[in-house]
Amino acid sequence: MKPVTCYIKERSLLARLAARYMGGNQIAMVIGKTIHLHGATREDFLSHKWWVRHEICHVMQYRELGLIPFLWKYLWECARVGYYANRFEVEARAAEHNSAIMERVVIV
Ligand SMILES: [Zn+2]
Repeated sequence: MKPVTCYIKERSLLARLAARYMGGNQIAMVIGKTIHLHGATREDFLSHKWWVRHEICHVMQYRELGLIPFLWKYLWECARVGYYANRFEVEARAAEHNSAIMERVVIV
């Protein structure tokens, strides 16, 4: 299968708002194929393999479900069981140990 091209956006306003809402000064959040960063540079982010794998897992989740259905289901999970038990987060945490996930993407 053709690898998915992912993008990184530093100093993202969206990520800044999410950081304010969630509490925390370093945050990455994925919208579609773009990883939005706040409080971390591209280099900081890429130097943490587990972190990159986690966010790439979210890119795959978007790819599987589509943009709007993913966001809807993700927010619904958060409302229902909270952030930590959210099944998309459980899957992304498991992916932190899975180096094979990186074969499915190219980060530009
Ligand atoms: Zn996550």
